[in-house]
Amino acid sequence: MQYLSTRGDPERKRFCDILLEGLAPDGGLYLPEHYPNISAQLPALRTIYQEQGYAELAFAILSLYIDDIPADDLRALTHKTYTKAVFGTDAITPVRELEQGLWLEGLSNGPTLAFKDMAMQLLGNLFEYELARRKAELNILGATSGDTGSAAEYAMRGKQGVRVFMLSPHGRMSPFQQAQMFSLQDANIFNIAVEGVFDDCQDIVKAVSNDLSFKQQYKIGTVNSINWARLLAQVVYYFAGYFQVTKNDSEPVSFTVPSGNFGNICAGHVARQMGLPIKQLVVATNENDVLDEFFKTGIYRPRSSANTLETSSPSMDISKASNFERFVFDLLGRNSAELKTLFTTTLAEQGFFDLSADPRFQTQHARFGFVSGRSTHADRLATIRAVWQGHQQEIDTHTADAVKVAREVRQAGDEPMLVLETALPIKFSATIIEALGHEPQRPAAFNGIEDLPKRVQVLPADVQQIKAVIEQATQAV
Ligand SMILES: *Cc1c(COP(=O)(O)O)cnc(C)c1O
Repeated sequence: MQYLSTRGDPERKRFCDILLEGLAPDGGLYLPEHYPNISAQLPALRTIYQEQGYAELAFAILSLYIDDIPADDLRALTHKTYTKAVFGTDAITPVRELEQGLWLEGLSNGPTLAFKDMAMQLLGNLFEYELARRKAELNILGATSGDTGSAAEYAMRGKQGVRVFMLSPHGRMSPFQQAQMFSLQDANIFNIAVEGVFDDCQDIVKAVSNDLSFKQQYKIGTVNSINWARLLAQVVYYFAGYFQVTKNDSEPVSFTVPSGNFGNICAGHVARQMGLPIKQLVVATNENDVLDEFFKTGIYRPRSSANTLETSSPSMDISKASNFERFVFDLLGRNSAELKTLFTTTLAEQGFFDLSADPRFQTQHARFGFVSGRSTHADRLATIRAVWQGHQQEIDTHTADAVKVAREVRQAGDEPMLVLETALPIKFSATIIEALGHEPQRPAAFNGIEDLPKRVQVLPADVQQIKAVIEQATQAV
């Protein structure tokens, strides 16, 4: 399989080349040249999942897209990643029926209790494998306001050839999230609490990445959500969810996905393009409803950071949806010249683009099965309460946004609807207490985590000082 850039660079690459890269050199995002069609293999894939488990299913799907890692090695990597020891159950992403026809698929039973573990755990093993093969090193520099940073650190801790430098806004993450990250004592993990807000952290990451000689000398890389390997890993659980709620391979299902950067649901789009019988892909946003606006009106209007609200589902507080370009590329029939104009010239000149009058938005929009909805803080509280009172189940704030939207969209007698559960409630306990009046359940392994010794350095929002930390750590070896 060869990979191309959405913005039209004629160069084609293999999987392991784009694994360690972020954006393509022309500023675009990588996608496979085509999506392999698996319609005829669905029964076989079902048998693989049922008889050999999630890791073997992951191998079967990944091997359609990865041909520069020997099959035995790739199989070993997926089996090392998707274990009951790490994800808590044999199903890895177990489903439970909330009410007639409405299911939750649990993606948040990994080490950091959020769905980002599903992809990041694999990425950690892929990175270690590929860096060893190349006798190379990587210094991952990232900014986080919560889930991404901890998922990256738990995936990379102790891995050969990789260091992680994770910037977070000092004092602004929840105590549980701080405890998760800062309690890691691994020598290759560097927590840096920046005196500033999340945007300051992101600006520093950009400044360092734009210093090309520093970037090259210190082998700076990222693990952000535009990485194709992360997206590909997420395709697998759409299949696993499908096999758990259907009995045969002609039954359609729909998915509702709490969305921010459009990574998770873009994996659903890929699964659907491969022939998985998905009827609707429902995008659920919070008050930062850039994506809901697009699917309702055809207008894509990224917000400034000043216009991005801080909400109680913070992992969806995005100003622009960084994976969205992949979907628009397919929507435009993969016309990269047109895509490039929209994402560079049009957005720069008028701040939005408008596909409402474009027949491809009307017709292909229907074909790709996307619909959307939004949720507010009040909706979130009401949904968390209703699910508790009706089913004695606690759900987190992001999952609540999706349950709210799924109930709106779903009609009696419709195909089964799977809602992706993207975090456990303990990560966002303040809002759960506001909704239910009690602390959410805490998995036993996390008892007392707030009291563990912390390993973090507090620094001003200063690019030079962050670079100095990277220089020192690299020289110390
Ligand atoms: C990251 C995240 C999301 C949003 O996922 P995208 O792939 O960015 O759309 C939703 N919920 C939780 C808990 C997350 O951590």
